[in-house]
Amino acid sequence: PLVLGIETSCDETGIGIVRGTELLANTVASSMEEHVRFGGVIPEIAARAHLEAFLPTLREALETAGIELHEVDAIAVTSGPGLAGALMVGLSAAKGLALAADKPLYGVNHLVAHVGVGLLDPHENPSGGPAQEPSGHRAGNPGAEPDAEPDAEPEAGPRGMRRLPENTGALLVSGGHTEILRVGSLTSDVELLGSTIDDAAGEAFDKTARLLGLGYPGGPAIDAAAVAGDPHAFRFPRGLTMPKFEGSAQNPGKHRHNWSFSGLKTAVARAVEQFEASGRPVPVADIAASFQEAVVDVITAKAVRASLEHGITTLMLGGGVAANQRLRELLAQRCAAAGLELRIPPVSLCTDNGAMVAALGAQLVAAGVTPSSLQIPADSSQPVQQISV
Ligand code: ATP
Ligand code: MG
Ligand code: FE
Repeated sequence: PLVLGIETSCDETGIGIVRGTELLANTVASSMEEHVRFGGVIPEIAARAHLEAFLPTLREALETAGIELHEVDAIAVTSGPGLAGALMVGLSAAKGLALAADKPLYGVNHLVAHVGVGLLDPHENPSGGPAQEPSGHRAGNPGAEPDAEPDAEPEAGPRGMRRLPENTGALLVSGGHTEILRVGSLTSDVELLGSTIDDAAGEAFDKTARLLGLGYPGGPAIDAAAVAGDPHAFRFPRGLTMPKFEGSAQNPGKHRHNWSFSGLKTAVARAVEQFEASGRPVPVADIAASFQEAVVDVITAKAVRASLEHGITTLMLGGGVAANQRLRELLAQRCAAAGLELRIPPVSLCTDNGAMVAALGAQLVAAGVTPSSLQIPADSSQPVQQISV
């Protein structure tokens, strides 16, 4: 099926177009630049930016794919989770397009869409130009990247569609989420194995970068600063790793597969304060490297253990924090040691985009799932088990 996907859950306005598992267009405009001076995404500004970016982004995606709206078989849109006002812009636009073009509408789960993107064929840049990351407020068509992991053989699925391998897990790490999922079927069986109980991983990067005076967004800044630092200079806490939280495989504790990053953030703040109080220069690179090591260590250790204990054999990585070099390195090492196959999509498909929504929409169409009503609301806390609404 030819499916148009719309993503507006946070600061990216994404329109993607797929034919089955073939990626035809992935146009993304971001309002990140407008949030930089506030040090975080401001919901009202994001919603307004979606409104302004929507039509140009749609036009560019249709042009890149070389199709017209009336040719699509369905329209998929993120219905949640995300910022309510931002979601509403995409959802209203999707309903309008579905009504005008008389096409079925699928309201889909943003987190499951992050997993669905893993089914797309390894691709060339659809625009034919050089590979490019979404940046600024400009729309861009990110394509293949040199570090993209080659995809495995296509698995047969409904109507010849590629399907996820059995026992797939997904580790989603972004500014809003840190979750490990078991995905039995993308269209009917998704289970939450663990998640953060406070800050998301990307949020921890952003807050720590602010403490270190590294600016916003903090992930790329810490990633870069850490290169010159010693990851063992400070021993920062790994949250929820004490036996009372973790229990054993036979008798798991409540937080065995959960994360917590707020204690880590406090420990970094204390370290910075101690240097400032004593008038010594803050060792920014060492703190950045040690913080990053703590986050990456506990994320990868818990993700791999949760996977092994739930019979997962293939693990997919998604979310903006997937760009982190140390995370990719340590996760690859630990997956290899545990006999887990690791799949990491190109960064342009790990961060929020419309192609992932279209990819999940195509799976829903192919599986014969009933389309959504035109009355569906935005659900800012849509649970992961609710794949479509
Ligand atoms: P959502 O949580 O809804 O997916 P989001 O916009 O918060 O949306 P993304 O756009 O996927 O999340 O990712 C942004 C986050 O990723 C930010 O918190 C940013 O700091 C973090 N990030 C980006 N690059 C890196 C990196 N190299 N290392 C660590 N974190 C990074
Ligand atoms: Mg974002
Ligand atoms: Fe996301």
